[in-house]
Amino acid sequence: MEISGFEKMTLTDYPGSVAAIVFTQGCNFKCPFCHNSNLICFKNGTIDENEILDYLSKRKKMLDGVVITGGEPTMQKDLVSFLNKVKELGLKVKLDTNGVKPEVLKKIIELNLIDYIAMDIKSSNNNYSVVSGVSVDLDKISESVKLIKESGLDFEFRTTVVKNYHTLNDLLGICEFVGKDSKYFLQNFESSSRVLDANLKGFTKDELLEMCAKLNEKFPNVKVRGI
Ligand code: SF4
Repeated sequence: MEISGFEKMTLTDYPGSVAAIVFTQGCNFKCPFCHNSNLICFKNGTIDENEILDYLSKRKKMLDGVVITGGEPTMQKDLVSFLNKVKELGLKVKLDTNGVKPEVLKKIIELNLIDYIAMDIKSSNNNYSVVSGVSVDLDKISESVKLIKESGLDFEFRTTVVKNYHTLNDLLGICEFVGKDSKYFLQNFESSSRVLDANLKGFTKDELLEMCAKLNEKFPNVKVRGI
């Protein structure tokens, strides 16, 4: 697999679990707010997957699982093979995805290769392609949402909310789309030198909490994460 980042341990990225994080190289979206913009380009990874598997094998007693993020992990040709190797170590897997490859999600769900799925929902249907930076096939996104909800796995949907792009109406549209019973998190955008567009801004804490309160009137499972 093409891997360009590895964090040996996180207590925050896999809910309830101690995990390592693997960052895959290459993404088919070009979100202007992407914090991992160095991982968007499709090219060879900088880290040998065997080094990572070796580390995981040595430290598996200290870890519950591995987060596979990116980039977009489902774009990797040998994702199934890598997940098999991680599962053979007895570790749980959380997959972060933009949901553009439902056929890959279906396969790894059927093969029992994942335990937790976190899918980014970029915006309401009308603004999806603008916020993703590319033209997006919304049928694929809908198919992934449906698959995830019916998978029987632990899952969450989440949106990085950017003041320049998201309105309350967009967030209401997303809530309708993912459904009332789904766990859905709003994550505020924070600027950094790595994002593609330096002019973007997040919401204030009060603005975000106010939007969440309005969403909670109809969608009680919406939460703000990270403030
Ligand atoms: S889908 Fe994720 S990794 Fe890909 S460009 Fe968007 S934020 Fe970055």
